[in-house]
Amino acid sequence: MASAKRGAPDLAGAGSALAAVETLKGVGAKLGESLRAAGIATVADLWFNLPLRYEDRTRLSAIRDLLAGQQAQVEGVVTAVERGFRFRPQLKVAIQDAAGDSLALRFFHFHGSQAQQFRVGRRIRVFGDPRPGLFGFEIVHPSYRFLADDESAGLNETLDPIYSSAKGVGVATMARLVQQALQYLPVHTEDLLPRPILLLAGVEADWSVERCLNTLHTPPAHVSLAELGAGRHPAQRRLIFEELLAHHLSLRRQRSELQAIGAIALKSRGKLRSALLSALPFELTAAQRRVLGEIDQDLRQARPMLRLLQGDVGSGKTVVAALAALQAIEAGAQVAIVAPTELLAEQHFRSLSNWLHQLGVEVAWLVGKITGKARGRVLQGILDGNVQLVVGTHAVMQSSVVFKRLALCVIDEQHRFGVHQRLALREKGPSKFEVPHQLVMTATPIPRTLAMTAYADLDVSRIDQLPPGRTPVRTVVVSNERRNEVIERIRENCQHGTQAYWVCTLIEESEEVQAQAAESAHAMLQAALPELRVGLIHGRLKPQPRSEIMAAFKAGEIDLLVATTVIEVGVDVPNASLMLIENAERLGLAQLHQLRGRVGRGSKESSCVLMYQSPLSSTARARLETMRETNDGFQIAERDLELRGPGEVLGTRQTGDMQFRIADLRRDADQLERVAAVADQLLTEYPDRVEPLVRRWIGAADRFANV
Ligand code: ADP
Ligand code: MG
Repeated sequence: MASAKRGAPDLAGAGSALAAVETLKGVGAKLGESLRAAGIATVADLWFNLPLRYEDRTRLSAIRDLLAGQQAQVEGVVTAVERGFRFRPQLKVAIQDAAGDSLALRFFHFHGSQAQQFRVGRRIRVFGDPRPGLFGFEIVHPSYRFLADDESAGLNETLDPIYSSAKGVGVATMARLVQQALQYLPVHTEDLLPRPILLLAGVEADWSVERCLNTLHTPPAHVSLAELGAGRHPAQRRLIFEELLAHHLSLRRQRSELQAIGAIALKSRGKLRSALLSALPFELTAAQRRVLGEIDQDLRQARPMLRLLQGDVGSGKTVVAALAALQAIEAGAQVAIVAPTELLAEQHFRSLSNWLHQLGVEVAWLVGKITGKARGRVLQGILDGNVQLVVGTHAVMQSSVVFKRLALCVIDEQHRFGVHQRLALREKGPSKFEVPHQLVMTATPIPRTLAMTAYADLDVSRIDQLPPGRTPVRTVVVSNERRNEVIERIRENCQHGTQAYWVCTLIEESEEVQAQAAESAHAMLQAALPELRVGLIHGRLKPQPRSEIMAAFKAGEIDLLVATTVIEVGVDVPNASLMLIENAERLGLAQLHQLRGRVGRGSKESSCVLMYQSPLSSTARARLETMRETNDGFQIAERDLELRGPGEVLGTRQTGDMQFRIADLRRDADQLERVAAVADQLLTEYPDRVEPLVRRWIGAADRFANV
């Protein structure tokens, strides 16, 4: 730690950056425990517990200048007090400022004694959110204080930081503790990023960490609230970069830790693989071959593969996974393939058993609904090694599932799983020294800069080519008012042997409600199209009837399949070449692209009809336009990033797992670009800074590693 500077308290140990919070005044065992539970264990953790927002009590506003919803501080004299009951007890106080304008204060929760304080003629200063009321502005539950008649109370010199509260730690306590911790800042804080690194990062190098923290915890009156709110203040930018860097480094560190453990080196002659290749009705694309080569290289090593396989919908990731699996199986090991939904797991199970059964490979499937004796049999097979490949949902990751010799785990549609779930796999290897190789597959094309940060622990392979003979899907956008025309078109197409999907979209609703919507669409279409065979599939159906319906659709016994978005991922019926999506404006680009990927899988020209309900918002319009203009998953992803921001594009991984103190992947996307390069530089030139940096931002209790 830095040497003591003059004028600042230096209690050796107590108050130093790594000293426990209990060394602070007023923190006993109980409060200490609550703080720890909130991830605050040391004095430094308090420094880096940055305010959520600020309140400005550095100035007074005239009542006539108030704006709805914009917090303000007002001073005036009480002119009327009214206690009453309208639906519930309430207290209404009128105040008037020097210019003679009035403002109403309204309280719904108050004590009798509190009400007594408000007396006509008393001077009062209030702070809160003005909103338009019946007679001018009013503030509900303002914070307030009375001023003595002759008191000329000064205004605050700094903005008030507002911290998030935690269980057992109120907002005021948190603020008090942070202020106390800040006293030790001058002595104990350290600039972990040297000047050359800051310059490379493109942040202002004369903002030391100490200055940044002081500014953000106690911003001087002249600092712009708007700038702070937008995360554009240089102090914020400096710390945001540091935090992004720390996350990136932490992922890379986890990667090297995992790789240091070791894995089974999968060396096989490739007999099973050649057998499958010659049995397949198609040739691999050049991209599939290249990616398989990359995977092979990894699997032959005695350290675990950690690889992300990106490939647009329909690019043929499943067969690559199967070929990778055979490498492990031939080497006498087991493989698990995990999918996010039962429907998808089942479909993988079907195609994989189709392919692998003829090679004598034992394939099992395991999902939550398999219980009792059947489950017991599968678990036994996995335990004694008879089952060579198990396909399933996250049920496979449960601790009751014990493998004899698991060497490879494939995770499909990774964005639906959290990092934790993925890391739980590390426990499933055959010994403490062998963790399974991991292949993570996704059809969500993640822009490069984002991948470098959010997936810093993974190598990336890309299938950037679709199998030959696919014709791009033609997409049209029509208003709901033209529903009848669309139904006519379905009739015509299906009479000529086309199969079609009708997708009902109800996001954010329960599966129950979704199912009902699909049921009524089904009834409507059956009535409108009596000559067609109309099927229905949704999440509420039991697995058995659901797979029967999918099988019937695949066999061509159903012409039109009404579905909820359960068919979003992975469903593969090449003869289906028409898709209608109802209320397409409700869905995001990634989801629309996934859905549309269900058609255009055969050689037939396919189309997709995006039906919307007017009026369209401008972003919804932009989304539908994008879908009409391109079929390219990467272009769509870039557009999605512009429209929605990275947090949402990545899904769970950000929203659930990566918790940032100050950075916001959506707002701070422009800083992501430099993170990987800066990390490289730091690792080579200042490796000793990595550990303290990760500890500063992510904490000793490495959140990702603790499963
Ligand atoms: P995704 O990458 O979306 O998971 P799938 O693995 O489901 O795609 O593959 C889509 C379809 O393309 C499947 O029917 C699969 O058998 C087929 N397919 C895969 N690779 C090829 C290829 N090289 N040539 C022709 N068809 C292929
Ligand atoms: Mg797939």
